[in-house]
Amino acid sequence: MIAFGPVPSRRLGRSLGINNIPFKHCSYNCVYCQLGETRYQHLKTADFYSPKQIFQSVQEKLQKLLEKNEKVDYLTFVADGEPTLDKNLGETIDLLRDLKVKIAVITNGSLLRSERTRNSLSNCDLVSLKIDSGFSAVWKRVNQPVDELNWEEFIFGLKAFAKNFNGQIITESMLVKGLNDSEENIESIAQFIGELRVTTAFISAPIRPPVKKWVTYPEESVFLKAYQIYSRNDKVPKVELLMNYEGNDFSIGEKVEEDFLAIISVHPMREDAVRDFLKKVHLSWGFIEDLLANKKITCLSYQNYQYFMRKNVNREE
Ligand code: SF4
Repeated sequence: MIAFGPVPSRRLGRSLGINNIPFKHCSYNCVYCQLGETRYQHLKTADFYSPKQIFQSVQEKLQKLLEKNEKVDYLTFVADGEPTLDKNLGETIDLLRDLKVKIAVITNGSLLRSERTRNSLSNCDLVSLKIDSGFSAVWKRVNQPVDELNWEEFIFGLKAFAKNFNGQIITESMLVKGLNDSEENIESIAQFIGELRVTTAFISAPIRPPVKKWVTYPEESVFLKAYQIYSRNDKVPKVELLMNYEGNDFSIGEKVEEDFLAIISVHPMREDAVRDFLKKVHLSWGFIEDLLANKKITCLSYQNYQYFMRKNVNREE
């Protein structure tokens, strides 16, 4: 399913998700990725779904939501991989403008070194960039970029994009205990972000089950310190911490199983959210048991909560 949700987004309110690439093409293999190991790691853009196909899927979903008076704040490209690997992203965004809903793209920014990718994002309202370090060595450890991706080109791409983009830029930095949560690294991120004309810089923690089991989030005092470091930079107008679960305001359509699987393939759901979900569609817990028995989903424990997500053969269990 290409269009899914809407899901509550910690950054964008109620966001209708667009999964514009097949599982899981990405230029990174982040240690905290909630989707599992990257299957196809590359920097080469490709034709996946046609712009028309994506448009129709989003239009249909949006229409149903509007009929139910459900609010949608953003149409958000939040793929189960890196959305800018879609060669036709720019054309798709142009088509989606007709739907009169704001458009956001959540990207790791690694393809912005290409002018074509920078141009493809020029017609959206908001771009969220992932920046987990200002140091090449830490970037490599946290994000595990594809070999041919070079730090200098990556930095160049982000700066060139920020210089010419007319929409809003926000950043998200995920802090992982013992990996990129040192004061020195946080300083490096704040400094880098200060050069990108951001409106809000989010500091987040791996709140969903990460691909590497050893990944965990730092002490609360680290977030407080990070908040202070960012706030000292007058080129970062607003700083927000995203250390908490974003709520259970998920939505589901008529194709319950398909919708549920589409959401949790990108957005693993905590048990209380699943229970709220089932209540809305008048289904019992047996629905989840069937999906587990048929190996369509998996259940993982993380930080005292149970999470349900799409079964992924590449995940360390
Ligand atoms: S977190 Fe995003 S950028 Fe990192 S590996 Fe997963 S999909 Fe790719």
